Amino acid sequence: MYGMLIEDNYDIEVNRAYLVYTRSKDKLVEIEIKKEYFIEVNSVLQEIINIVGKGYYPKGTSYKRRCRDCCYRNICVK
Ligand code: SF4
Repeated sequence: MYGMLIEDNYDIEVNRAYLVYTRSKDKLVEIEIKKEYFIEVNSVLQEIINIVGKGYYPKGTSYKRRCRDCCYRNICVK
């Protein structure tokens, strides 16, 4: 999403990003950003907009192990 924001605000192409693992001696990792990532992010954004704007309730995850550590577990009806 940062890449999308940079592209939109500075009108430049973004094709890489960097992660800094501050708990691992500031290990720096370069990540290639592919155009299909932006398509995926836009899809997720659209779903979030539907949830917030239209009251659409998303389906629960089919990976129930994710629920164990989910902060919404106490209120989730799935
Ligand atoms: S508990 Fe969390 S991870 Fe599991 S279905 Fe509900 S919202 Fe999704």
